[in-house]
Amino acid sequence: MTNQPWQVQIKIQRQRAGEKPYVQAFALEVDPDEYVLDAVERIWAFHDRTLTYRHACHHSTCGACGMRVNGREKLTCITTIRSVTQNGGTIRIDPLRNFPVVSDLVVDMGDFFLRMNKSDFNSVAPDNAARLPYEHPKKLETQTEGEPERLVDCIECGLCISACPAANTDKEYVGPAVLAAIHLMYTQNPSQKLINQADDHSGLWRCHSAYECTEVCPSGVDPAWRIMDMRKTVFKDRVKSIIKPRLPEKKDA
Ligand code: SF4
Repeated sequence: MTNQPWQVQIKIQRQRAGEKPYVQAFALEVDPDEYVLDAVERIWAFHDRTLTYRHACHHSTCGACGMRVNGREKLTCITTIRSVTQNGGTIRIDPLRNFPVVSDLVVDMGDFFLRMNKSDFNSVAPDNAARLPYEHPKKLETQTEGEPERLVDCIECGLCISACPAANTDKEYVGPAVLAAIHLMYTQNPSQKLINQADDHSGLWRCHSAYECTEVCPSGVDPAWRIMDMRKTVFKDRVKSIIKPRLPEKKDA
C-alpha cells in the first residue's frame, strides 16, 4: 500500500436466484486509491469464496464489472475507494437493477445482448466510425478544431439500463443502450430499418428523458442525447410519410 490504510465496512447484497436477498457486511483494510473491484476480489479471496461477481479486463474495456456502489451504477474496476467513502466509512454494493439476479452481484444480461444484436450494432466500431457526430453539444463545449475526437464505443456494461427509470417500470422498453446503438448505426449508415426499430412500440417514445443513462455511462456514449436526436429523425420520417401522399402528382408535359 502506498497510502495509510483505511478501515472500511463493505456491505454486499447476497442473493441466490429465486431466493430472498440479504446483506452481508465485511470489515476490510484498504488502500484508498485501490478500486472497489479490488476490495470485492479480496473479500472473495480471504473472507468468502461463495461470493459471486463478474470481472474480466480490469481496465474499463469489457464492461463486466458493473455494480451499484452506494446506490449508483459504476464500473467497479475504475471506481476508487476514496471516491465512494472515507476512512472508517461504509460502502454498499448491490447488483445492477433491471436485470434478473443470477447470484449475488451477477445479473443475467442475455436479453440485453440479444436486443443489441438485433440493432446490427458493431460492438467493436471501426476507429473512424466510433465518433461523436459533429453537432453533439459536448463536442462543441469541449472540443476545438484539431483536437482528437472522443471515442464513443459502447462496452455493453448495462449501467445505463440499471440507472434508467423507464426501464425500471416498463419491462417492454428496449432501453438506452439499444437505442444509442441504433442511433450510432444510423449516423454511420442511415436506413429505414433502423428508423423503424427506433420507432417500435418498445422503442424511443418510452424514454422519459431523465438523462440518468448519460449520467452513469462510463464510455461517453451519451445515450440520452442519442435518443433525443433519433426522435428528431423519426419525427421527420413520420412527417415525410404523411406529406408525401399529399404532394400533387406530376402532370405529363
Ligand atoms: S451506453 Fe454506456 S452505459 Fe450503456 S451499455 Fe453502453 S457503455 Fe454501458
